[in-house]
Amino acid sequence: MALKLRKKKQEKLEAKKHTILIVDDEEVNRRALRKMVKDDFEVIEATNGKNALELIQALPESSTIHIIVSDQRMPELSGVEFLERSMSIFPNAVRILVTAYTDMETTIQAINKANIYKFITKPYDPEDFKHILKQALDSQELQSVKKALEKERGLNMLKSNFTSMISHQFKTPLSNVKTSIELLEFKSYNLDVKLQDYFQKHFQSIHEEIEIMNLLVEDILTYGIVEKRSIIPILESVSFVDYCEFVIHHRFSNKLYNQHIEFQVFGYNREITIDTKLMEHVLFNLLSNAMKYSDESPILRIRFQKQALVIIIADRGIGIPQEEQRNIFNSYYRAKNAENHQGTGLGLAITKDFVELHNGQIKFKSKLNKGSVFKIMLPIHQNTIQEQE
Ligand code: ADP
Repeated sequence: MALKLRKKKQEKLEAKKHTILIVDDEEVNRRALRKMVKDDFEVIEATNGKNALELIQALPESSTIHIIVSDQRMPELSGVEFLERSMSIFPNAVRILVTAYTDMETTIQAINKANIYKFITKPYDPEDFKHILKQALDSQELQSVKKALEKERGLNMLKSNFTSMISHQFKTPLSNVKTSIELLEFKSYNLDVKLQDYFQKHFQSIHEEIEIMNLLVEDILTYGIVEKRSIIPILESVSFVDYCEFVIHHRFSNKLYNQHIEFQVFGYNREITIDTKLMEHVLFNLLSNAMKYSDESPILRIRFQKQALVIIIADRGIGIPQEEQRNIFNSYYRAKNAENHQGTGLGLAITKDFVELHNGQIKFKSKLNKGSVFKIMLPIHQNTIQEQE
């Protein structure tokens, strides 16, 4: 029985999440207040302003006081003086001052100084008092939600601006390095053949490193833009077959990509409405991953269905470990077996965002050391897709 009671008491204590500090030099007043709030609050008491200050200064950093109720007339420190000083220790606490009608004049003058939420004149009705406490808590919760939102908004802005700034700061020097290398390359043709070979080998490896850096920066920059949610697709109607051929040629004719993309088309070739810039990112990300994570050439297969276009990008590479598959669309996530390959973990997050901006869907299947198949479904004209495969 005793155990049951103790358990009940414990549960009640756990349910109390707010702490109230009662400051009054008269024991009867403190007792009355304590009785009124003890079921709903953790109660801390102090016998005057000075004691209360010492008490809250000594509290561990992790503790919070949600509401402070202080009497105005107390020896040494008045209620207003104490509440004012408590502001630097618990700035977010709701401060309530209990005052006699005769103190009203001074109290009103001091109210802003001590950031007082409400003052209550004695004698007060317990029900009114409880109602004020409830309102106080609501207002405090609202304030903390507001503050958390502002903080998050601020952090997001900072993150976006920071990513854009860093990426831009990289882009210019990288393109300067590229130009200088090209000039040196041009000059190197005057050198004797042996030296030319030597220089060419190193120029090639510098180009490769620059390309890798460029891709990383491009991912980060694109992600900065996507996070701002400021992208409105600019749609145009294109022949998707011609468009794929253009992307393959435009993005993969570089010497760096020594694999050949096997491009297959099924179904009746029609025009499709896309944002060509965004879709280029999608195809590039998936195809370059298929090349990066595999030694064999990837397949790009498109299939025109009645209402949808299905795009398949398949490789026979390292695959994605089963237990990590649910994370790979999360930004910055990289599977353990990808550690030896360059990357940011942003490409697939961007790809998914861009596909969804087209009202499309992306899925994949992958087997460790066997390969991966990414499948995109895009509506040809309508906003809905019905899978028919
Ligand atoms: P990354 O820049 O790391 O390639 P992505 O966002 O494009 O970033 O991909 C996230 C992770 O998903 C990769 O780090 C890798 O672990 C895995 N992944 C993506 N595509 C493939 C693929 N074709 N084969 C194997 N793993 C892949």
